[in-house]
Amino acid sequence: MKLYKKMALLIVLGVIAGFSYLGYQGLFQHDDHLNTSDHNPLSSSKQKQNSIEIVGNPESIAVLVNKQNLLPDHYEPTDLVYPDVRFIFKEKIEKRQMRTEAAKALERMFSAAEREGIYLAGVSAYRSQSRQESLYQAYIKQDGEAAANHYSAHPGSSEHQTGLSIDVSSSTGKCAAQDCFKDTPEAKWIEANSYKYGYIVRYPEGKQQITGYKYEPWHIRFVGKELASKVSKKGITLEEYYNDYMQVDNPVQ
Ligand SMILES: [Zn+2]
Repeated sequence: MKLYKKMALLIVLGVIAGFSYLGYQGLFQHDDHLNTSDHNPLSSSKQKQNSIEIVGNPESIAVLVNKQNLLPDHYEPTDLVYPDVRFIFKEKIEKRQMRTEAAKALERMFSAAEREGIYLAGVSAYRSQSRQESLYQAYIKQDGEAAANHYSAHPGSSEHQTGLSIDVSSSTGKCAAQDCFKDTPEAKWIEANSYKYGYIVRYPEGKQQITGYKYEPWHIRFVGKELASKVSKKGITLEEYYNDYMQVDNPVQ
């Protein structure tokens, strides 16, 4: 009788240990899963991927604008100015403008770069929705819709419409908004230093599944020093920051 009791106890303990182990494994798998694709609604959840939302805080310097989060129809920032920096063209036109705070930070960044012998130039900054519309249509005509979607944004989903983004190049304009820009000293300087001025490289290498855009070492986005520092030190994108660290979409700053 005693032996039976002992055996029964051992079996019960064995079963408990087995379940605990499975539960332990399950827990870890779940966590890993959470930290990768499943937790990122932009890369794996079809439902979320197809859902388009209109951002509620277009004026926030931390606003998340992408293919899923669009600006309100014909949104226009109210504080656009001409940053006092070199551009690869002379005209005082729309694409030379930026929002005040981003413009000031850009001036500081270009000056700092120049002190280190890096001569940056603006290529394209603010872009209104109507301008984006005509560009997008022209790209579709040229390359077809699928290809155009990889490098151009649907009207309303371009960060350039926020007035917080700018494409930059070297002062010679060589490789402006082209893949070859990534190997230039200017691109390397931006990669290493832009966060100090509140800017991030918005579409980093290897993050196309998350941002929806191929690597664009020239496209920088002003998010403010604090956020730029966090995003840059973690080596993540703005999407990952909101999805994995903030747990909320577009918090109002
Ligand atoms: Zn751009």
